[in-house]
Amino acid sequence: MNPPNAAPLNADLHCHSTVSDGLLTPTDLVRRAHGNGVEVLALTDHDELGGLAAARATADEIGLRFIDGVEVSISWGDDQTVHIVGLHIDPANDALIEGLQRVRSGRDSRAGRMAAELDKVGIHGAYEGALRHAGNPALLSRSHFARYIVEQGHAKDVKSVFDHWLAKGKPGYVEHAWATLEDALRWIVGAGGTAVIAHPGRYRLSKTERRDLFVAFKDLGGRAIEVLSGSNKDEEVREFSRIAREFGFLASRGSDFHGPGESWMDLGKMPDLPAELTPVWSQWS
Ligand code: AMP
Ligand code: MN
Ligand code: MN
Ligand code: MN
Repeated sequence: MNPPNAAPLNADLHCHSTVSDGLLTPTDLVRRAHGNGVEVLALTDHDELGGLAAARATADEIGLRFIDGVEVSISWGDDQTVHIVGLHIDPANDALIEGLQRVRSGRDSRAGRMAAELDKVGIHGAYEGALRHAGNPALLSRSHFARYIVEQGHAKDVKSVFDHWLAKGKPGYVEHAWATLEDALRWIVGAGGTAVIAHPGRYRLSKTERRDLFVAFKDLGGRAIEVLSGSNKDEEVREFSRIAREFGFLASRGSDFHGPGESWMDLGKMPDLPAELTPVWSQWS
C-alpha cells in the first residue's frame, strides 16, 4: 500500500461507533467515511470488538478497505489514563477477547461511583441517564454521562461538561484501574496487531513521564504513534513527527471521530502525514 511517490492515502485509523461512545452505528460510520473519501478505515471502539463484523461487512459491500481495530484504556503512572490503539488485530483472538472483557467489566461499578459523585453536586439520576445514551450497556463511558448532563440542561455541550464535571480533578471524575501497558501490548501484539500510542497530545504528562511512556511502550513491542490525531495542534504534529523519527515509530493518522457535531475532526479530514514518516499502513499489503 502507498508505493513511494504515490499520492498519500486517505487513511483514518481511529474512530468510534455506538458499540462504544460514538453516535453512529458501525454501518453508518463506514458509509460516512466512504462518503468523506476515506480509502482505509479502522474502527477502534473503546475496549470492544463488537462492531467490527458489521463494519467490515459494510466496507466490503461498498469497496472500502477495512482494518480491524480497538482502543484499549490503560492506567499509567500516577492515575493517568492512556489509550493504546491496536490495528490489524485478529478479532477472534481469545486472549484479546478475554482481556477486553475484563477491562469492560470494571466500567459499570465506575459508572456507579461517578453517578454518586455527580449526585452530590446536584446532577441526579446520572447512572440511568447515561445508560439511556449508551448503545452498549457494557461500555458506559464518560461520553454517555456528558450527553446526559447536556440533555438535562446543565451544560451547553459535551466539551464543557468535561471542563466542569468529568475531567480529572472535577467533581464527577473518579479514579479507576484500567488495564496495564503490559496487558494492552500483550493482547494487541498477541493478536497479530500493531500497537499505536493514541492522541499523544492529550495526556497531562511531563516531558520526562511522556518519554518514559514511549520507552516502555517500545520495549513492550509498541510500533507506532498517532502523529495526526483529530485533537493535535500543528506544533504537536511537528513534535510527534520528531518523536516518531527518534524512536523509529511508524506514523498513524486517525480522526478519533465520535459523531457529527461532537468531534474535533470529521472522518478522513485530517492533513496528510509529513512525507518523511513511514505510515503505519505501509506494512499491510
Ligand atoms: P472513558 O473511557 O469513560 O473515560 O471516556 C473517555 C472518552 O471521553 C474519550 O474517549 C472521549 O470520547 C471523551 N472525552 C474525554 N475528554 C473529553 C473532552 N475534553 N471533550 C470531549 N470528550 C472527551
Ligand atoms: Mn471516546
Ligand atoms: Mn482515546
Ligand atoms: Mn478514541
